[in-house]
Amino acid sequence: MEKQVREFQAETKQLLNLMVHSIYTNREIFLRELISNASDAIDKIRFQSLTNVELLEGDSEFQIFLEVDETNHTLTISDNGIGMTYDEVVENIGTIAKSGTKAFLEKMQTQAAEKQSVAELIGQFGVGFYSAFMVADQVTLITRAAGVDKAVKWESTGDGTYSIEETERSGRGTTIILKLNEEYRNAEKPEENFLNRYTLQNLVKKYSNYIRYPIKLNFPKEVKPVDENGKEIEGATPAQTIETRVLNSMTPLWTKNKSEITAEEYQEFYKSVFYDWTEPLEIMHTKVEGVVEYTALLFIPGHAPFDFYTREYQQGIKLYCRNVFIMDNCQDLLPEYLKFVRGIVDSSDFSLNISREILQQDKQLKLIGKNLEKSVLKNLENLLNNDRAKYEKFWNEFGKAIKSGLYLNVQAKEKLQNLLLFPSSKGEGLVTLDEYIKRMPEGQTEIYYAAAKDKNAVERLPQMEVLREKGYEVLYFFDRVDEFAIESLHEYQGKHFKSISRGDLNLNSDQDQEAKKATEELRKENEPLLKAIKDRLGNKVVEVKLSNRLKSSAVCLVSGEDGISLQMEQILAELDQTVLKAARILEINPNHPIFKTLQNLHQAGSEKFGDYVDLLYGQALLIEGLSVEDPLDFSNKVANLMVQAVG
Ligand code: ADP
Repeated sequence: MEKQVREFQAETKQLLNLMVHSIYTNREIFLRELISNASDAIDKIRFQSLTNVELLEGDSEFQIFLEVDETNHTLTISDNGIGMTYDEVVENIGTIAKSGTKAFLEKMQTQAAEKQSVAELIGQFGVGFYSAFMVADQVTLITRAAGVDKAVKWESTGDGTYSIEETERSGRGTTIILKLNEEYRNAEKPEENFLNRYTLQNLVKKYSNYIRYPIKLNFPKEVKPVDENGKEIEGATPAQTIETRVLNSMTPLWTKNKSEITAEEYQEFYKSVFYDWTEPLEIMHTKVEGVVEYTALLFIPGHAPFDFYTREYQQGIKLYCRNVFIMDNCQDLLPEYLKFVRGIVDSSDFSLNISREILQQDKQLKLIGKNLEKSVLKNLENLLNNDRAKYEKFWNEFGKAIKSGLYLNVQAKEKLQNLLLFPSSKGEGLVTLDEYIKRMPEGQTEIYYAAAKDKNAVERLPQMEVLREKGYEVLYFFDRVDEFAIESLHEYQGKHFKSISRGDLNLNSDQDQEAKKATEELRKENEPLLKAIKDRLGNKVVEVKLSNRLKSSAVCLVSGEDGISLQMEQILAELDQTVLKAARILEINPNHPIFKTLQNLHQAGSEKFGDYVDLLYGQALLIEGLSVEDPLDFSNKVANLMVQAVG
C-alpha cells in the first residue's frame, strides 16, 4: 500500500493544538501515558495468548524498552504488546472515538486559564497518546499486530496531518519514536531533559513503579580492564559496555505484611496504579486464609472520577493469581452500588486461564466477593459512626451510587439503609434515618420527605408550612434518584415514608381531627363549587379538594397516595418514559381570600370564573416547579387581571 497523508479528525486537531501550544507544567507525564499504553498492550497479548499460545510466536518475555539517542535527539519507547493493524492505527491514533473527548476539551479549555492540573485530566480522559506532542516535534509510531506479517508506520508533527504507510518490524509490538523539542533535551535543565537517563529513571520510579512488566533502559558503563588476579590495570583505557537496568520495582505491594507498608507506600501505589492524583479516602488491606484464600487491597477514592456517573465508567477490581495479573476491571466481584471501590484481589484460587464468562459462575469468586462486600460496608459504617466529616465527604462523592443501588436492588435494603444521609429541614447538616427517628417529636408516626430542585425550592413549598408549625422534620430529596430509592424502601424501623406532596398528610393529632371535620363540613357546603372547578379543569386533575395542609398559600398540587409523584413524572419524562403520569390533585386553601372570591364568582355565574380557575391551576404548577401548559394563555389572563385591578 502507498504512503498516504491524511488529516486528523477536527477534534483531534483541536486537542493537539492545545497540547502543543498551551503552557502546561508537568509535561513529563507523557512518559507515564506512553508506558501505560505499552503495558495495556502487553496485558492484551498476554490475555489472548492464554487461549492461543501461538500468537506469542515464541516471544513471551514481556517488556517495555526505553532508548535514548543523543545524536538524533530521540527518545524511543517500545513494547512487545499486541500491536496494531493498519486499520487499528487509523482508528485509534488518527481519530478520537471516545465520547469523553469533547468533555475533556471543554474542561481543558476552562482549566487552561486556571492552569490547573491538566496532567490529571489527560490521564483521566484517556487521550494519553497525544500527550507525546507536548514534548516532541515529531512522533513516529511503528507497530505490528500479533499474528500479522506487515507492520505500519505512522508519523506526524502534530500540525493537522499524519502520514501512514506499510513497513517492516521484527516481531509484534509497538515502537514510538519521539523527536524531542529543543526545550526537552536541554542538558542545562536536567529535570526536563528527556534524553537524560537519570531523569527517565526518576520519572519511571515516580509514575510507573508498579507497572507489572519490566521497563528497561540501557546505561553505558565503563569497565576497567583487570589482570589475571582480578586487579585493575593502572593506566589502561576502560572498555565501554552497556548495562541494561530495570527501572521499575514491580513489587506487588499487597503481598508484603501490613506492618511493613508505610502510609506513603500505600498512597503511591494507589496513585500510580489507578491514575489518581488525589489521595484515597480509605485503604483496606486484608489477608484471608481458610475456605477461600485471598489478599485484597481495596481503596475508596477521594473523588468521583469525571465519568463516574456515566455509562463510560468502568467498574471493577484487578484480579491476580499469586502475583500474576489476570484481568482488569473484573465486575463480578462487587455489586454495582460499590462500583466506586478500586483495588486488587490476589487469590491462588483463581485460574490463570479464567475468562470473563467462566468468572460469572465461579463459586470461589462469588465467595470472595461476598466477603469483600461485607468488609467494605463495615468500613463505611465505621466511618459513619467514628468520622462523620470523612463519611460526609464520601457521601457527597459517591452517595448517589448507594442510593441507586437501593433502587435497583431491593435485597440490598438491609445492607444500605443505615448508610443513607439526607439534608433536612433541621439545620444545615445531613441526617441519617436513625437520627431522624430518634429526634421525632411525640405524636409523629411517619418519616416526612419533600422532593424538589434545591433547598430554596423545597422551603417555599406551601405544604412545608404546616409541618414547620408542628415541628416535624422533613427530609429533603434533591437527587433525582432519592424518591425512587425511598419508594423501594417503603419503611424504616416500622415508620413509613410519607411525601408531603402526596395523598393526605394525616398529622394525627386532636387538632388535626378537628380541622379535618371542619374541612369536611366546608366541603359539603361547597360541593357544587368544587365540582365546577373540576369540570373546568377536566382531566388535567383527578380531584379538586379543600386543603388542610396550607397556611398562607392559596393552592397546591399534590399527587395521589399510590403511583408515581409529580417529581418522578418529570424525571421519567426526561428519560422519554412519558407513559407514566402522576395523578394530580388540586388542593385549595379554604382560608385564603381567593376562596371567597371563587365562591362569589361561582354564585354570581360570572364568566370570569373559568379564567380564575385556570390561573389558580397555573400557579399550582409553577409552585411545584412544573411549567404551565399554555404560557401565552396564562400570561394573557394575568395581564387582563392587572388591567382590571387598576381599572
Ligand atoms: P487510551 O490509552 O486511553 O485508550 P490513547 O490515546 O493513549 O488512549 O490510545 C488510543 C488507543 O491506541 C489505545 O486505546 C490503544 O488501542 C491504541 N494504542 C496506543 N498505544 C498503543 C501501544 N503501545 N500498543 C498497542 N496499541 C496502542
